[in-house]
Amino acid sequence: MNFAKLFLSENKESFEKISEYIFHHPETRFEEYASAEFLASECEKAGFQVERNVGNIKTAFVASYGSGAPVIGFLGEFDALSGLGQVPNKTSYEPTELNVGHGCGHNLLGTGAFAAACAAKKYLEENNIPGTVKFFGCPGEEGGSGKTFMVREGVFEGVDAALTWHPSPGNSIMSLSSLANYQVYFRFKGLSSHAANSPHLGRSALDAVELMNVGVNYLREHVVPGKPECIMLSQTQEASRQMLSRQTLKSFTSSGRQRFSRWKKSTNGFAKSRRGQL
Ligand SMILES: [Zn+2]
Repeated sequence: MNFAKLFLSENKESFEKISEYIFHHPETRFEEYASAEFLASECEKAGFQVERNVGNIKTAFVASYGSGAPVIGFLGEFDALSGLGQVPNKTSYEPTELNVGHGCGHNLLGTGAFAAACAAKKYLEENNIPGTVKFFGCPGEEGGSGKTFMVREGVFEGVDAALTWHPSPGNSIMSLSSLANYQVYFRFKGLSSHAANSPHLGRSALDAVELMNVGVNYLREHVVPGKPECIMLSQTQEASRQMLSRQTLKSFTSSGRQRFSRWKKSTNGFAKSRRGQL
């Protein structure tokens, strides 16, 4: 513990520079080209062997040091969110021109994990201990399920333990588990018509969205407690005096495969009840 603390305080400035760079180059999921490349090249400078483009994802990489067991992984993330660009050192809302930014300190995520990987590497070196340190450059943390694709492609195979962290006002070890979820876009198609002159000829996609929302709320009672569902309207047509004929919903559910299929069936019904299409 003292070794790690000392190592981090001795190298604080170089890690701060990485975090600053990522803060000033905010990129959304799977487009983190500058951030991923910057971190990957810092890994090389620190003596790691870097494999880029892993799991068929251009911004995913693995930096490895050492050999044999145990294989300890550190998960580094670096993607930003749109709508969160904030001019630094301002205490009131002041969006940047691009308005893309690192929510809840995400510029620190990859940097902190990299710092931890460097400390572990140094410990193995100084104490002549066998083992492998792997730093995983993980894109698409913000709703992109980047690690799911990496797992499917076998990127994490052979890892004995993987560590991650998240910025917080307090310093503690979290012993929580998290839920897997389905993230689904439902696209409703209706029939556009003039809302004042001929509403009877149209089929409103918005009505189907509302029916779905109500229906899903009724289903909530019958799912295992603690399995949240969430619906967001992510795209809507903009046309004044027109019946809205296209709507897209972004939905999350942690209720599992069977439950998701019930949800989908009901949604199909809602769309059909409006003589529209899902
Ligand atoms: Zn976060």
